[in-house]
Amino acid sequence: MSDPPRSLSYLSGVPVSRINNIGEKRTQALASLGIDNVFDLLTYYPRRYIDRTRRIDLSDLQVGDEAAVYGEVDKVTSRRSRQGRPIVEVTVSDDGGSFRVVFFNQSWRERQLVVGVQALFFGKVGDYKGQRQMTNPVVDIIVGPLGEERDSSKVGRIVPIYPATGKAGLTSWEMGGFIGESLRRAVLISDPLADDDRRRLNLIERDAAFRHVHLPDDDAEKDSGRRRLVFDEFLRLQLILALRRRRLESSSAGIRHDFDRAALDASPGDALDQNSSQVRRFLTSHRYALTGAQRRVLEEIAQDMSSALPMHRLLQGDVGSGKTLVALTAMLAARDGGHQSVLMAPTEVLAEQHLASLRRDVTGLSVRDDAVLGGERPLSVQVLTGRVKAKDRQAVLDGLLTGGVDIVVGTHALLSEGVRFQSLGLIVIDEQHRFGVEQRAVLRDEGRARSVAARDADLLVMTATPIPRTSAMVLFGDLDVSIIDEMPHGRLDIETEWTRSAEELSACWERVRDEVAAGRRAYVICPLVEGSQKVEATSAVEERTRLALNELRGLSVGLLHGQMKSQEKEDVMAQFRAGELDVLVATVVIEVGVDVAEASVIVIEDAWRFGLAQLHQLRGRVGRSNAQSYCYLLGTPPTDDGEARLRALVETNDGFELAEVDLSMRREGTLLGARQQGRSDLKLASLKDDGELLVSARALATSLVERGDDALGDLIDELRLFVDGDEAAYLFRS
Ligand code: ADP
Ligand code: MG
Repeated sequence: MSDPPRSLSYLSGVPVSRINNIGEKRTQALASLGIDNVFDLLTYYPRRYIDRTRRIDLSDLQVGDEAAVYGEVDKVTSRRSRQGRPIVEVTVSDDGGSFRVVFFNQSWRERQLVVGVQALFFGKVGDYKGQRQMTNPVVDIIVGPLGEERDSSKVGRIVPIYPATGKAGLTSWEMGGFIGESLRRAVLISDPLADDDRRRLNLIERDAAFRHVHLPDDDAEKDSGRRRLVFDEFLRLQLILALRRRRLESSSAGIRHDFDRAALDASPGDALDQNSSQVRRFLTSHRYALTGAQRRVLEEIAQDMSSALPMHRLLQGDVGSGKTLVALTAMLAARDGGHQSVLMAPTEVLAEQHLASLRRDVTGLSVRDDAVLGGERPLSVQVLTGRVKAKDRQAVLDGLLTGGVDIVVGTHALLSEGVRFQSLGLIVIDEQHRFGVEQRAVLRDEGRARSVAARDADLLVMTATPIPRTSAMVLFGDLDVSIIDEMPHGRLDIETEWTRSAEELSACWERVRDEVAAGRRAYVICPLVEGSQKVEATSAVEERTRLALNELRGLSVGLLHGQMKSQEKEDVMAQFRAGELDVLVATVVIEVGVDVAEASVIVIEDAWRFGLAQLHQLRGRVGRSNAQSYCYLLGTPPTDDGEARLRALVETNDGFELAEVDLSMRREGTLLGARQQGRSDLKLASLKDDGELLVSARALATSLVERGDDALGDLIDELRLFVDGDEAAYLFRS
């Protein structure tokens, strides 16, 4: 009887020590690479491949290259070092030239590599007195001294190169050997995909895929193998997300909000009657009409909020696209059904800003309240941050519990501060793309536990960080996505300049003075100091003084940094907003969300220190009215990456385009928060190149989960490898 196919979870139970040639020492070496069992070995993928039939011209070899060079042994000599260690020196040549190969402590090489032998030398190219040289390379004899062809069936034409092996004291060659042996011992690796699905998606079987990736005969094999394994990575990830979602939906007690969808067509100035909803009252009295995109995403939100399942939606919109207005409209819809809302901001500065702008926007709106004289009171928007005094705080807490407060703004800590609601209906999280899946689940449970009504609030997560569609699927696979793809009417592109010369620099400060003279305002962003908020603050203080005495002499220059007290920060922001300050010298504390429409210039010092997404966010602090705005990027980047970022920023204002550039510049891994990654990390997949596979994996995951656990079959067993025990219990108990 033949062996049954081996599942990945079976293989994960086989320790590497069971493989031939892996003893104590190598077990430890492998462990240092995170490889403990056969499953780990098989999913330790080649970093790249070398085609040994493609002759590398020796004269093309660059110092520092890792290369496989094919050549014939011309000359062999041996000697001893001063310490008495044997040294064998070999000269190898091909039609194009020759190079030196040196072996230390391998005196037997003298007998192996006799003149006339043809071999493949694999190693790193070094430099020895101006000549290219390899030290202790891996050698694979192809043609022996008598011209006989060696059996090369053990190594394919395409040689896989494994990463980081040197660090662990192993060679890529040895690693390939262990993996080859594992594949041989595994006999047949099971395939959790149904044949129908597999064929429809044009994927090869998994057993073949592992073999093709590790021991390819040609490029086509390597590619088809990779394709299958990438698909599996995406599928597992999407299954976990789909299962989380199923779990959420099955255990939820959502609210059917009374969302007045017809009111979304209302325009400023339209007539109202006594029974008009808050949404209608607001939209007919607001300073401006919704943009088409705002209206469209509100339709999507209305649909979710009106359903019994809790909303779980991500709202994406470039900086300045008007997400706050969307959030407020949704919060008013919650109010229409008698439910309260929470708006969470990432910083206190932002929470205060939201408080101010929401209060301004809801002026004139009132709600029924039998507890007060006249049966009506103004719609109440309150704030809960560390700054709020104990007495006021208690009043807000009371109001939330009795229903006297309709909307509360705060930082992310808000829900963990002993707050209780009468009926929490909607949670909005502003500017937070790093808010992970687990945190969202916790939030949802908290919301329910803290609401006397004990229902699941709807959730709207807003982000200005433009996440390419494929990454969004990975990061937010459990969320529905709405996109605001249109700026408010009349906005001009921000003019961005990369300021390098002294003349350009003085033109930049000239611009700041001109704009201030024309009644507008400016930001100056101080260099980022990695790891030290204190040093960063000090340098901001100095820069403010320097500018106030020199380039910006005569202007009123304020200061904002992370070490200031909340109250101080708030005062400075208020002064800047009111125009009492012309220029605000700030650290990145103002990175997200700050909205001062009169600000029309931003100068970013040492701009290359910031990430692309961050620079785009910073730039988004201007261009928030219909006036022309300017962004100056200062400093000379010491790296190509830094240059590429600044160039990209000069070239486009489009956040989505920048996100694509960003994605192509970084490794995908950094997109996933450490906690979210777990073992489901994408090892082979590239979000940039494998988008098509991600889309089909998501579709299959959704349909498998809909079909139920029988359809999932062996996949459930396999998923256990990628989630921890608690989560598995949570996800698979259905
Ligand atoms: P973000 O999406 O970056 O959070 P905001 O909500 O802060 O953007 O809006 C940016 C600016 O655009 C604000 O000053 C806001 O008042 C304004 N705005 C929002 N919606 C509209 C609209 N429909 N028409 C005109 N201006 C708008
Ligand atoms: Mg905002």
